[in-house]
Amino acid sequence: MALTAIIEEHGGPEQLRLVDRDVGEPGPGEIRIAHKVCGLNFIDVYQRTGLYPMELPHALGMEAAGVVEAIGEGVTHLKPGDRAAYAAAPPGAYCEARVMPAAQVCLLPDDVPFDVAAAAMLKGLTVQYLFHRTTPLKAGDTVLFHAAAGGVGLIACQWAKSEGITLIGTAGSDEKCELALEHGAQHCINYNKEDFAPKVRELTGGAGVDAVMDGVGATTFEGSLDSLKPLGMLMSFGNASGPVPPFNIAILGGKGSLKVTRPTLFTHIADHEACQDMARMLFDKIQSGDVKLRIDQRFPLTGVADAHRALEARKTTGSTVLELP
Ligand code: NDP
Repeated sequence: MALTAIIEEHGGPEQLRLVDRDVGEPGPGEIRIAHKVCGLNFIDVYQRTGLYPMELPHALGMEAAGVVEAIGEGVTHLKPGDRAAYAAAPPGAYCEARVMPAAQVCLLPDDVPFDVAAAAMLKGLTVQYLFHRTTPLKAGDTVLFHAAAGGVGLIACQWAKSEGITLIGTAGSDEKCELALEHGAQHCINYNKEDFAPKVRELTGGAGVDAVMDGVGATTFEGSLDSLKPLGMLMSFGNASGPVPPFNIAILGGKGSLKVTRPTLFTHIADHEACQDMARMLFDKIQSGDVKLRIDQRFPLTGVADAHRALEARKTTGSTVLELP
């Protein structure tokens, strides 16, 4: 049996309920993993509220680290006793132990602690694909990254710096901007105080940026387009402020043949080898010290509803984890 956080109906954090569930044995292509630490992500909020609907009841959580307890037929890259970590569908990581598909579970290097891995997998693999698998970006390029003091944001600030890419961040307070700057952002704009698009033009000598990485959505979409160079790309990868409303695609022509993509990590990690390669690159960044995970909020699994409240209320910075006894 394993303590597991589930929802029976979409709604607020109060919908999260802890139940004891039978874990069972892994079938072909599956493993059973005992979790040490689980990661919290904004996608968990979308799934809880129903913005991303799912069949109910369902356990939540997309990321965790722990120890492999058993493997099913055909699993060759992991064995019982291995330290492992993952970002993976289907949701269900908020638990003490689970049976799950093995393909997206990665062997965890001994020198990467469980809490770091749980804080890093989903957010770090996201940064990997934004910088390396979405549009060509090279040293000397400039990107705009919204919510730069958040979980994905602080990793992105460090990642950009390690690759010679100039990152202009945005964040909702001066304190958050300070944090983004400490983590490698070249500039950070408090978008609650200042219209960010004209400021981006000013900071880039009128040119605009090569790419915008926008996980904020509704409130930043227009300004993101207005911050781009001709032929630049908007990566609209999230909706923390609400979904981007429908728009007339012709506006992209008028603003300079812009490109817009709506990527998701789960497309990029669907291929087992690609997922493992992406994870190796992330672990290299962590092991080299280029990327340091900042875990600013730790909750017990039983405090999962409070963790959701903090994330939604913009009270968090860096990563948030749920710890198991
Ligand atoms: P964060 O830690 O970045 O938290 C979200 C941040 O968004 C807040 O802290 C806040 O920062 C900002 N924000 C702006 N407006 C709002 C609002 N109305 N309500 C709440 N927050 C708001 O979360 P994550 O690091 O987990 O994720 C960042 C984004 O990336 C999310 O949109 C997430 O869904 C997306 N994502 C997408 C993936 C993909 O593959 N498509 C994968 C991983 C993440 P501030 O106060 O500074 O404005």
